[in-house]
Amino acid sequence: MLDAERQSLLRKLPAVDAVLRGPAARLAERHGRAATAAAVREVLEGLRREIASGGSPDVSGEAVAGGAARLLSGRGLRRVVNATGVVLHTNLGRAVLSEHAAEAAVRAATRYSNLEYDLSSGRRGSRYDHAVPLLRQLTGAEDALVVNNCAGATLLALSALAGDGEEGPPEVVVSRGQLIEIGGGFRIPEVLELSGVTLREVGTTNRTRLSDYERALSGRTSAILWVHPSNFEIRGFTEAVGVSELATLGPPVVADLGSGALMPVGGEPLVQTAVREGAELVLFSGDKLLGGPQAGIAVGSARLVRRMRRHPLVRALRADKLCLAALEATLRAYLEGRAEEEIPAQRMLREPAEELEARARRLASSVARAAPGLEVEVVPSVARSGGGTLPGHEIPSRAVRVSGTDPEALAARLRDAEPPVVGWVHEGSLLLDVRTLLPGDEEAVVEALRGAVRG
Ligand SMILES: *Cc1c(COP(=O)(O)O)cnc(C)c1O
Repeated sequence: MLDAERQSLLRKLPAVDAVLRGPAARLAERHGRAATAAAVREVLEGLRREIASGGSPDVSGEAVAGGAARLLSGRGLRRVVNATGVVLHTNLGRAVLSEHAAEAAVRAATRYSNLEYDLSSGRRGSRYDHAVPLLRQLTGAEDALVVNNCAGATLLALSALAGDGEEGPPEVVVSRGQLIEIGGGFRIPEVLELSGVTLREVGTTNRTRLSDYERALSGRTSAILWVHPSNFEIRGFTEAVGVSELATLGPPVVADLGSGALMPVGGEPLVQTAVREGAELVLFSGDKLLGGPQAGIAVGSARLVRRMRRHPLVRALRADKLCLAALEATLRAYLEGRAEEEIPAQRMLREPAEELEARARRLASSVARAAPGLEVEVVPSVARSGGGTLPGHEIPSRAVRVSGTDPEALAARLRDAEPPVVGWVHEGSLLLDVRTLLPGDEEAVVEALRGAVRG
């Protein structure tokens, strides 16, 4: 391209202010003037580079505003409507807090609290003490500790055990069937290495017997680690040893449960059962089946919990006050028998398909009215627990199926709505599962589809 043409295109680039007052005015209302201005500048910068390297892009104010809108829509944490039917959707924030838990977090955030203050003595207290009585009561364990997440709890527990070997470097015995990767790169063998303990593998991928464990024990054994293979299942010729049998062997059993169910759901191991069966430490997540905030919870013997609490890593893994407040409120719901109706994850996992049918019908007829031209019907669907819990467990559910248009294009438009709606494309249609819709989400789905057909 000639220099003159290049210069002329560069001169045509609109001024930031002009875009903000004109085509990006609505955008600035939605995202704030400062953020929108920054996005507009970024788009203009990109256009300048493109022109400099010989391109001739659209330099209209509308094009610049469109580019800024695309930048802004992908940025910042926003509310999203989860119509995937995956209850603990890791990419969509895993567990949704109950109203009570959210209120408790807001209170802790906007007021001072006795986070590390003992109100009876007027002296320094510990943030780790608040949830302990609740966790003891719920699980039957002697003591408890809450850290940032279950990955952290596992790292801390194993690190705290690393000093336990009597003859040389301490060993932790694990079945080869439980050397898993949880997701996000969290692999049990690597965590063991990081903790300074030696991994002693026993058994095979599909079969491990009690005698395999027995043979591996020595004076160096600091613990037997039992890991819940959370996100996959082995079927067929399999054999595994449960916590109760392992507890007869002598060394402390550390059970990494992950999912953290306090109430029966789909055969997931219960925390209180692992405690009763003799695990000296049980580790689980706060935002999986428990349905609370992101947290890693360790319950178990006073001896091992004390060691975890005294380990230097605890400071690096500590849970913040918002999390602790929300967790306390979540645990209280279980203790008071309100969890099934109060905790969103529990409610969603348990809602019978017949009730969903009624909700799906209402939604389908609202959608049909708002978006004429689309084919809308209620269909049976399969919801899932997600978040590395209940693998392969299919929950009968109901979805609104939208067809009569390109499903991928429709899905993209719904993701572009405010709030974005995330469904899933299945066999040439877009499915919107109602199991994971929260109060107010139905209206958002209807509006998103209304906007999508209007173009
Ligand atoms: C999910 C999971 C973890 C990690 O929990 P986060 O709270 O996500 O850190 C650890 N162990 C097991 C067995 C898990 O399933």
